[in-house]
Amino acid sequence: MKEYDVIVIGAGNGGLAAAATCAKAGLSTLLLERHNIPGGSASSFVRGRFEFEPSLHELSGIGTPEEPGSVEEFFNRLGAKVDWCKDSSTFRLVVPAKEGDKDAFVNENGVLVTVDARMPVGFEAFSRKLDDLVPGSYESAMKAFRLSERMYKAFDCLGDADGIAGVLKALPYMPDFMRMTSHTLKEGLDALGMPKKAQDIFATYWCYMGSPASRFDFLYYMAMLHGYIKNGTGIPRLRSHEMSLSIDKVIRDNGGDIWYNSEVTKVIMENGKPAGVVVNGNKEVRGKRFICNASPNFVWSDLFAEADIPQKQLKMTNVRPVAATLTTVYLGMNKTKEELGIKDYSVFVAPCSDSDEQFALCQDYFSGYCIINCLNEIIPDCTPAGTSQLFLTSMTFGDVMKDIQPQDYKKFKTKVAKDMIETCEKALNLTIQPYIEEIEIALPPTFSRYLNTPLGTPYGYMLDMWDSMIPRTLQFMQDQPFDNFLFCGASQERGDGYGCAYHTGEKAANLTIQALKEGQ
Ligand SMILES: Cc1cc2nc3c(=O)[nH]c(=O)nc-3n(C[C@H](O)[C@H](O)[C@H](O)COP(=O)(O)OP(=O)(O)OC[C@H]3O[C@@H](n4cnc5c(N)ncnc54)[C@H](O)[C@@H]3O)c2cc1C
Repeated sequence: MKEYDVIVIGAGNGGLAAAATCAKAGLSTLLLERHNIPGGSASSFVRGRFEFEPSLHELSGIGTPEEPGSVEEFFNRLGAKVDWCKDSSTFRLVVPAKEGDKDAFVNENGVLVTVDARMPVGFEAFSRKLDDLVPGSYESAMKAFRLSERMYKAFDCLGDADGIAGVLKALPYMPDFMRMTSHTLKEGLDALGMPKKAQDIFATYWCYMGSPASRFDFLYYMAMLHGYIKNGTGIPRLRSHEMSLSIDKVIRDNGGDIWYNSEVTKVIMENGKPAGVVVNGNKEVRGKRFICNASPNFVWSDLFAEADIPQKQLKMTNVRPVAATLTTVYLGMNKTKEELGIKDYSVFVAPCSDSDEQFALCQDYFSGYCIINCLNEIIPDCTPAGTSQLFLTSMTFGDVMKDIQPQDYKKFKTKVAKDMIETCEKALNLTIQPYIEEIEIALPPTFSRYLNTPLGTPYGYMLDMWDSMIPRTLQFMQDQPFDNFLFCGASQERGDGYGCAYHTGEKAANLTIQALKEGQ
């Protein structure tokens, strides 16, 4: 029976990156995916006349021709072709006013709000706009962005080498690197003297990582923000499926095998370590090394016998809270974005401006926190003439659906979608409901069924100060279960996001390539 150099379990972003890097390095590579298409969240689906993007709001790693971003560089390294479309804006944050709010004002949509911040690309422009909205915030914003330049470079070094070697490479950019890592985003912005209201606008992207300002590390947030604000963001022209297919092609062009409709149902152990997998319950495949893109929760509960699970893995899996879960409402509209009155690609509608309060509200089902995106803003012809597509996303934490009975599921799903749509209609003074031609609603169980992750999270485990990106990176090898079985994807050191998942897949592949070269 053929023994592969490496078997990759799962063709999400992490698994695709791992398999392509291994195949390109000449390893005999097998990628196994239980669905009939690649990508996990990075895919597309069709309803009626509309092809929807299931997940991607924006990619921070798309730079400029002079200064390509990290995701673009990753695709260039692979030789994978994607037609990128740039977004020339960042985000708009709208906080509708509550009764008695003293600082309420009527915005351009005729809505009473306490915050309406439409933020531009570029450090200088962003800081000037912040200063217009919150006088006295320019200096602190520019200081934060200047720091972010160094943080971004330091952060980049962590990807190159494992553990402490990465930190040593980062020190020339940030001599205070380790001291910085102990501080939260809130502490960092307080130290820079940023006014609270400006901090709230600055922290808008907290939801992309699922950890609020008092629990998210300053360094990681600033490195992430650097990617979004410096050069703006991008998306692929043909939905994220285009990205996944282009990596699929690299794997095949380099002699790798991809088996779709192939679910790994068991890991075969020999001499205390993995030696192969069982596919679809009946086919054995042997491998020297393994890279796993499936969630550790699922792996330990379904793929291993209890006696074979390393104790540390059980402890870590039990102690780490599952990260954010999402609900998305996909809408095919029989009106154009102009007819609907939409002017922004991405609007964050929040029930309050403080990220910790937003996080607290997201512990329950729909709290009024909702991001509304209109794909036609960036790709005008992504839908047939006279139409447009919107997607609305809200976030929750924990098992918020535990009390919903199967017979109430449909009713619940419809109510959540209606609440989300009405929240956006009210906050932006839009009329959406009469013009919906197609609607699809994905709740956490939808994502759970598709991705095989606990509670359907696409974000892995919550990034908290005790388990933030830095300790995860420093302890990367200690956190892996066997020396020939490495995890990749959102459950790993960088948490959620396309760029993060690609990074972890490429890193696991490089460690695998190196180990095989050294004869391990
Ligand atoms: C609604 C939504 C919006 C998002 N917005 C953004 C955004 O704007 N920007 C951004 O960067 N990120 C965004 N994300 C997050 C991003 O999609 C994820 O963090 C990233 O895709 C995670 O990739 P992963 O490598 O962990 O793989 P996953 O997507 O989790 O895929 C894992 C794959 O493994 C397969 N698998 C599991 N078990 C097995 C098995 N036993 N055998 C074979 N195959 C198996 C699954 O079928 C799946 O294909 C969003 C996610 C969602 C859901």
